[in-house]
Amino acid sequence: MPDNDYEILVDDPRVGYFTTQVTDMTSTSSTPYRDLVHRWNLKKKDPTAAISEPVNPVVWWMENSTPKEWRPIIKDAVLQWNVAFEKAGFKNAMVVKMQPDSADWDAGDIRYNVLRWTSSPRAPFGGYGPSFVNPRTGEILGADIMLEYVHFTNRVLYEKVFDLKSVEKEFESPIFHKDMNRVSCSMGHFSQENTQFGSAVLLAENASDLKLKRLKRESMMALIMHEIGHTLGLNHNMKASQLFSPEQLADSNFIKGKCLTGSVMDYAAINLTRDRSKQGQFEDVAVGPYDIWAIQFAYTPFQSEKDKNNLLNRSTEPELIFGNDADDMRSPGKAIDPRVMVGDLSNDQITYSNNIFELVDEMMKELKTKFSIEGESYQELRRVYYVLNRQRSNAARCCF
Ligand SMILES: [Zn+2]
Repeated sequence: MPDNDYEILVDDPRVGYFTTQVTDMTSTSSTPYRDLVHRWNLKKKDPTAAISEPVNPVVWWMENSTPKEWRPIIKDAVLQWNVAFEKAGFKNAMVVKMQPDSADWDAGDIRYNVLRWTSSPRAPFGGYGPSFVNPRTGEILGADIMLEYVHFTNRVLYEKVFDLKSVEKEFESPIFHKDMNRVSCSMGHFSQENTQFGSAVLLAENASDLKLKRLKRESMMALIMHEIGHTLGLNHNMKASQLFSPEQLADSNFIKGKCLTGSVMDYAAINLTRDRSKQGQFEDVAVGPYDIWAIQFAYTPFQSEKDKNNLLNRSTEPELIFGNDADDMRSPGKAIDPRVMVGDLSNDQITYSNNIFELVDEMMKELKTKFSIEGESYQELRRVYYVLNRQRSNAARCCF
């Protein structure tokens, strides 16, 4: 354990951070909670400067097994978080380095934060971001991101996509495990389904390779930004997708370069416009306003409690709304606020779901002609059929 001057930060319910549970058993308060926020120990090199580099940045190593064509995108996604850190007073808080081919350390070495690239036969998720902390303070000591190759292939995890029983089970399991330090994230699943749906729609309309590549690129950006968010201490924000209207999401100029929701920590649906001629960005390519605000809360070296409270008091601004897994309505009878939801998009879910139903119905009509090739197996047809059905079920769940 490090012996340093790290200052603990107590959790606040308006912002979503992972915490180590601490309850003051000597307190007579009805809220004797002192849960410790998980965050990195960032200190300004120059404490007097408005924006300074940290003494010790968060250094990420990209595993040398990462395919060359994906490396710039992965790096770009990690560094997107520096936009948020700059608002908290830090320049170059995140640094990405390449694990040299001659490295004498293993990617599994806990002294290194590694962006792993793996291809497992039974990958649990497309990507996940575990970290470990000092239990006495909440200081994050190390983290890794596991990126699974299956996420970028057309291999469907059938038992996950079509077995409704396993879906329900997945939806019922709480994000927090008993020891409170472990977290499960299904972003990889949602993201893979989104990408497969997007590809199917693009293939059916004979879209260019360029467009298909853009979809994959945006999907990877969104997934990595989400997983990096976890390693910075952030938990989910399933309410963030309320930020824009369906009209705004169908305005390609308006959404260009933006996060499509308030936060990359949501499990948002892919942005596919009903009017296919209006298709703009598919997924998040930047961190959202909530993400920036949340990083400001945990990482700004505040001069006073008042400054911190002033920041927290902005929580009622529409772009900063927050609700996590504890309050989402992903399964019947769970929670009460329909805005806190997974797999949804926009502040008008009924319109959004109707659009998806119509899009899926239209594609179903042409499925056989578009996705079966003379002399080849029906595997591709079957795959797309599953993907479409799953999207219909997602859209129905979001507007029940
Ligand atoms: Zn997650």
